[in-house]
Amino acid sequence: MANLYTRLAAGFPSAETPFAHLPDGGIVTYGDVGRRSAGFAHQLRAAGVGIGDRVAVQAEKSIDMLMLYLGALRAGAVFLPLNTAYTAGELDYFMRDAEPALFVCDPATLASIEPLAEVAGVPRFATLESLAAQAAGQPGHFDDVARDDKDLAAILYTSGTTGRSKGAMLSHDNLGSNAFMLKDAWRFTGADVLLHALPIFHTHGLFVATNTILAAGASMIFLAKFDARQVLAQLPRATTMMGVPTFYIRLLDDPGFTGDLVAHMRLFVSGSAPLSADIHREFRERTGHAILERYGMTETNMNISNPYDGDRIAGTVGVPLPGVSIRIADPETGAEMPQGEVGVVEISGPNVFQGYWRMPEKTAAEFRDGRFVSGDLGFVDARGYVSLVGRAKDLIISGGYNVYPAEVETALDELPQVHESAVIAVPHRELGEAPVAVIVPREPGFSDAEAIKAGLADQLARYKQPRAILFVDALPKNAMGKVQKALLREEHKDVLG
Ligand code: ATP
Ligand code: MG
Repeated sequence: MANLYTRLAAGFPSAETPFAHLPDGGIVTYGDVGRRSAGFAHQLRAAGVGIGDRVAVQAEKSIDMLMLYLGALRAGAVFLPLNTAYTAGELDYFMRDAEPALFVCDPATLASIEPLAEVAGVPRFATLESLAAQAAGQPGHFDDVARDDKDLAAILYTSGTTGRSKGAMLSHDNLGSNAFMLKDAWRFTGADVLLHALPIFHTHGLFVATNTILAAGASMIFLAKFDARQVLAQLPRATTMMGVPTFYIRLLDDPGFTGDLVAHMRLFVSGSAPLSADIHREFRERTGHAILERYGMTETNMNISNPYDGDRIAGTVGVPLPGVSIRIADPETGAEMPQGEVGVVEISGPNVFQGYWRMPEKTAAEFRDGRFVSGDLGFVDARGYVSLVGRAKDLIISGGYNVYPAEVETALDELPQVHESAVIAVPHRELGEAPVAVIVPREPGFSDAEAIKAGLADQLARYKQPRAILFVDALPKNAMGKVQKALLREEHKDVLG
């Protein structure tokens, strides 16, 4: 039963059980999921999509897109969702790289995608709308194509935070093992209602949220995007929520977000980007809930998580999830680091991907002794909890000393004047490079760099203290709330003269 859909469907609840609650009051049941995904599977086959063929989709978040995903799984095709923000130039790269058998888009983008697809040699394209209409005319039963554990279920491009996005090849068992493990680890049951406001072109909203719900036979409130007002209105019906840190920051910014509103909730999960200890504390003070922070990536699904039962420690991502093992290694030599010391996090387990699509050298370079080298730096404390201190690519080496951006950001975020911060490396004549802080102040217009410096004076060793403090209205972030540090480095490369 390696086909992920077959595996999920084996545990589906009765046909009338809700799978998704839509903002307009509509309900998609588990019976609908079975029928509609079968229709898409038939339609893909009718359109000439074969086993192992890629089905690329760039479309606004919708239930149809999820049904296309499940239909692709059932038909043995490889699902390939693309960020809706990608422009023509980027799409051209993805089309040539992935060579999809079918490209699915929205009516609004059809006119611009058609010529691109032709030039890139994509044989077929369709709008999701038209495909859904055709799928609706197909039979509601489909015999799922048998797949092996290692056969590809999806290619998901990484977020492109540190460079060009890479296509991570994810197998049926990579996704399946993670979904069922997360359901248990975070105690999802059929009684759960997840508030879903994440995009579904990314691992968080598509695999972590949707697959876990399907594995539990639970339901979700399916929102097109995160809108604080709408989320506040829907939270009373939810039992759980998954979000990126930005969601929690925006909720806390809204005076309507009170402890009473979420007193009935069971769980809040955060990931995709670091959740500051400060926000964790503020959330707990406001609501009594300790946000459960976890760590994952496109290539590996979820790796490390704070516990459901037990201490959820702010500023840490918790302990390895069942079946996942980690090792903290010297980035250069690969030697294991002593407990408590910073190194690169290496990961192994059934969750780890099959390699980068058509990049065998890159794949070989990112594996060491069978373990995936994540590129994230972290350390393990005496209790076994992992703290991440930044990406290897963001490490600042100032006068020969390592400065970990996360440590400086944590100290900054503790200051009453600071709302959010990002610490980056900037070229420095004597030191090679030095830390510079980019700050979003709590009060708009605040720009007293000396006050910030004074606030850090007793908190950080001299070499870790930012050489310049810059104030901005907002940090550049991508759809997942990840701070675009490469952009910041480029923009501020001359501030130290
Ligand atoms: P690219 O690999 O293309 O540069 P990306 O790494 O941002 O982009 P994703 O796979 O979406 O692409 O993100 C995974 C990364 O997100 C992790 O490697 C880690 O740096 C970061 N991340 C995820 N969860 C957390 C967390 N809880 N705390 C800190 N960082 C996190
Ligand atoms: Mg990455």
